[in-house]
Amino acid sequence: MKDQSNFIKTIMEEDLKSGKHDTIITRFPPEPNGFLHIGHARAIIINFELAKVFGGYTNLRFDDTNPETEDEMYVKAIKRDVEWLGYTPHGIYFASNYFDEMFERAVLLIKKGLAYVDDQTAEEIQKTRGDILTPGIESPYRNRSVEENLKLFYEMRDGKYKEGEKVLRAKIDMASPNMNMRDPVLYRISFAVHHNTKDKYKIYPMYDFAHPIEDAIEGITHSLCSLEFEDHRPLYDWVVRETEMPKVPRQIEFGRLGLKNTVMSKRFLKQLVTENLVDGWDDPRLPTIGGLRRKGYTKEAIRSFILATGLSKVNSEVEVDMLEAFVRDDLQAKAKRAFAVINPLKVTITNYPEDKIEYVDVPYHPDFDYGSRKIAFGRNIYIEKEDFSEVKPDNKYKRLSLGNEVRLFHTYFIKAYDVIKDENGEIIEVLATYDPETKSGSGFNSRKPDGTIHFVEASQAIKAQFNFYGPLLVGDDSKDLIERFNRDSLHIKYGFVENALKDVQLYDKFQFVRNGYFNTDHSKEDLLVFNETVALKSSYK
Ligand code: ATP
Ligand code: MG
Repeated sequence: MKDQSNFIKTIMEEDLKSGKHDTIITRFPPEPNGFLHIGHARAIIINFELAKVFGGYTNLRFDDTNPETEDEMYVKAIKRDVEWLGYTPHGIYFASNYFDEMFERAVLLIKKGLAYVDDQTAEEIQKTRGDILTPGIESPYRNRSVEENLKLFYEMRDGKYKEGEKVLRAKIDMASPNMNMRDPVLYRISFAVHHNTKDKYKIYPMYDFAHPIEDAIEGITHSLCSLEFEDHRPLYDWVVRETEMPKVPRQIEFGRLGLKNTVMSKRFLKQLVTENLVDGWDDPRLPTIGGLRRKGYTKEAIRSFILATGLSKVNSEVEVDMLEAFVRDDLQAKAKRAFAVINPLKVTITNYPEDKIEYVDVPYHPDFDYGSRKIAFGRNIYIEKEDFSEVKPDNKYKRLSLGNEVRLFHTYFIKAYDVIKDENGEIIEVLATYDPETKSGSGFNSRKPDGTIHFVEASQAIKAQFNFYGPLLVGDDSKDLIERFNRDSLHIKYGFVENALKDVQLYDKFQFVRNGYFNTDHSKEDLLVFNETVALKSSYK
């Protein structure tokens, strides 16, 4: 971000130059009602990186003004995700810490004749708002006296009225061309238990009233938010001005980030989780930060991707393939390489001694020093089913077939001479011979085998589960989201990995040679679990 120019950075530069501010303070303001997703990563990165460019700082502030949907669990997850992305907030705050001050500011508005208690129902308020062409209708309660409004507002605070019975509204302009200025609701009654303040408050401020005050209290200089708040900006400025906040933040909007064939709506993600259609908020199919992490994405890849999508004033929807390219780029240098056989086919090397196992020392990466591991070779091995064909289809075929020879990585040439089939005619075992003269590195290059394939030695192989993921959504967007959920988005395969991986740790990353990049998931008893992060090559055209 340091070297990129963008419209927000330009504004910040000007504000520093003109002396309007002497430092840049931003905030990331999630509502703790779900896990963060890749769209939030854009907001996080923009806020933290821009403040950093100018030596300023960024707060993490939980915008917790809706007790019905918020939860401590989300607070924890959000903190963890922000940290994981590599950002340390200057301070961690809660909107709910400011409820008393917000209340006092609302009282000030009432005293100034700029707010009133309305007894209309939510439906009535909605109905009388008018539309772009028609002005709204003023509430019959709009002209209550300051004294009456104060008394009613205090009573609302004290729990004297039922939910929905009364609200506090700003008194602005029911004919404003901006719908947000048509006497917006500032406070509502709710008896829900708040994750932070429990049952202390019976009334809660609305986002449009709370957010500018939160920003002003923290001395936020530039309040960056996504585009849907553009029409709310006049109200934002009105609240800061009329509540007489000493510090004046400026709201600036940027475009939201979306990914094709996936969805960022927290409501929908939550539905998938609560209906058990996915394995929690960090299911690798979800575009949540937790899901991407569990899939094996790195913060560096996410960050490079976000920076590459640029910062613009329009919403953008990007192909998943672009994100995957950054992941591949990053993992190509970071992931250790190892062998996994995902679709195992047994091969018996009949001229190799029964009880002999030999080992070769192989580095985990050809270009970086990640140490090495011992690869076992013996009479019984597994290869991929796809790497064998009874009949060699053509001369370009680069795998094993009857009567022909392949090289096994780092070990020997083997030649298949027979197959064993089950009652359905399916091949369950291949019989082969090896040539001891072809041992890795000992001058066998005059003979050209049909390609090189990977394998694992059977007696020492570790059982493994491999999870493959398809897109979260299928079909076109004329359909309902839940109908578009891809019920065939998880494919599980059982195979083997080489013995050296027996002590892998959660989230260890591997390139399984010829198979793809994988991330270690929570292991089960006697079974390691790996999630496919991304294929080795893009399938994108
Ligand atoms: P909801 O779906 O509940 O409205 P939200 O996705 O807007 O939620 P918030 O917790 O309010 O979630 O978001 C925190 C911040 O992240 C906001 O400033 C919002 O503008 C920003 N943000 C959310 N989604 C995106 C996105 N897809 N791209 C860029 N910024 C986003
Ligand atoms: Mg929001």
